[in-house]
Amino acid sequence: MIRDEIFSFSAFELARKIREKQIRAKEAVEAVFQNIDERESNICAYISLDKEAAMKEARHCDEQVLKGGGLPPLFGVPVAVKDNLLLKGRRTTCGSRMLENYIPPFTATCVQKLQEAGAIIIGKTNMDEFGMGISTEHSFFGPTKNPLDPARVPGGSSGGSAAAVSGDMAFAALGTDTGGSIRQPAAYCGLVGLRPTYGTVSRHGLVAFSSSMDTAGPLTRKIRDAAGICNIVTGADVKDQTSVSCPKIDISSLENAPVKGMRIGIPRELSAETDFEGGYSLAVSPEVKNTLTEAVRILEEEGARVEFFDMPILSYAVEMYYILSSAEASSNLSRFDGIRYGYRDPDAGDLASLYIGTRSSGFGLEVKRRILMGNYVLSTEHFDDCYRRAESARKKLCRSFDAAFSRFDVLLSPTAPQVAPLLGESGKDTLQNYISDLFTVPASLAGIPAVSVPFGNASLPVGMQFMGPRFGEQSILTAARFLEMHQEGRKQKELKGGTGNA
Ligand code: GLN
Repeated sequence: MIRDEIFSFSAFELARKIREKQIRAKEAVEAVFQNIDERESNICAYISLDKEAAMKEARHCDEQVLKGGGLPPLFGVPVAVKDNLLLKGRRTTCGSRMLENYIPPFTATCVQKLQEAGAIIIGKTNMDEFGMGISTEHSFFGPTKNPLDPARVPGGSSGGSAAAVSGDMAFAALGTDTGGSIRQPAAYCGLVGLRPTYGTVSRHGLVAFSSSMDTAGPLTRKIRDAAGICNIVTGADVKDQTSVSCPKIDISSLENAPVKGMRIGIPRELSAETDFEGGYSLAVSPEVKNTLTEAVRILEEEGARVEFFDMPILSYAVEMYYILSSAEASSNLSRFDGIRYGYRDPDAGDLASLYIGTRSSGFGLEVKRRILMGNYVLSTEHFDDCYRRAESARKKLCRSFDAAFSRFDVLLSPTAPQVAPLLGESGKDTLQNYISDLFTVPASLAGIPAVSVPFGNASLPVGMQFMGPRFGEQSILTAARFLEMHQEGRKQKELKGGTGNA
């Protein structure tokens, strides 16, 4: 089978073709590595790849197919995993010099579940160091580029996972989302990115950034793949006491995307220009605004009830997020001290200089900034003023979401205020970067599920985000599937020589 044809299949379709002996797993892995050979030197989606192990697994899969019998749902599918998810015996760096040569002794639960579902893990993807960033430019291993336009960033921090899937260098990938790191790269790379309800995916083996928000989830080409992978990786895990079981997504009922009668709320704070203290403001670019308008139009046409409403506390979500996530990060990252594992300053003379030397050269600039911020907000002088206030604001935010979900089934907003920026552009103003997370951090703070789906006909991909109540994956994916179906229809019309304005 020719390479392009293999890549026309979604991850679960590919698995079916492999089970039905129409494609061999070996062919699928070879196709992926051919693309990697051609593209990876330019895109840099991966930190490490293991072709030999992948080929060996593929051969094993093909033998199993010949033997017959029941085979798992992702059988033989090449999948990529973000490099902050542990894979036993394979280097896991978190994009940091600190863990440049770290080999973990166990596998993250969510990765293990993918393996048990038959996926072949082909490599570990590039990321902003310890998940801190919006562009994958803050990686010790250099930046990843957007396969759709290599002059642009793929987003971050799961930019490597997004680039791997978008560049046809994997059929699906796992990313992690603390404040938007699955959804925003998905939006920039034209993919579906799903952040499941907090706690439904075990954090065992996910290197901690901000434990109260860290969530692993899929980046895929299609909603169906995201839902299927979500069903595989979710579930309570004894190794993570904050994990919970959850209802499985009914994938077949997503197919026709019944949005008629669905109540959809759009928070005004996430749809127009927002002003912040210190003279900062966040403007939504015209192409993103137009895409939102078009989404509203077609949802209403289909019989959904769409309403703009005020949720004023959302304007403080960025402050809450950066105070709380930095506080948690400064505590979580204290384990990297040169003693237990990871990088150790070779020139240190005594214990104090070992700590200082190791952490000074082991961490990059953005990580140090977060540690300093975290220590500041946790210090005795500022604890009440910053940390405690942010915690109580977070509770208010959760209550506002509860109130919103008593009126609406799902909430809609853009995923990011703009399309993928040019490389180098986002390094200019740190605060402006933080503010650009306004659309994604609210769901993170509230622990609710959110999905980004590519939509519209702007020249570069734009993502629309649906947020739902806890365990509301079915509703957000239904709404997202409706936009996806519309998008598929538009593409088909374009192919047939239509106007593209379906
Ligand atoms: N951009 C956010 C940050 O830098 C989100 C990161 C994430 O979700 N891992 O903290």
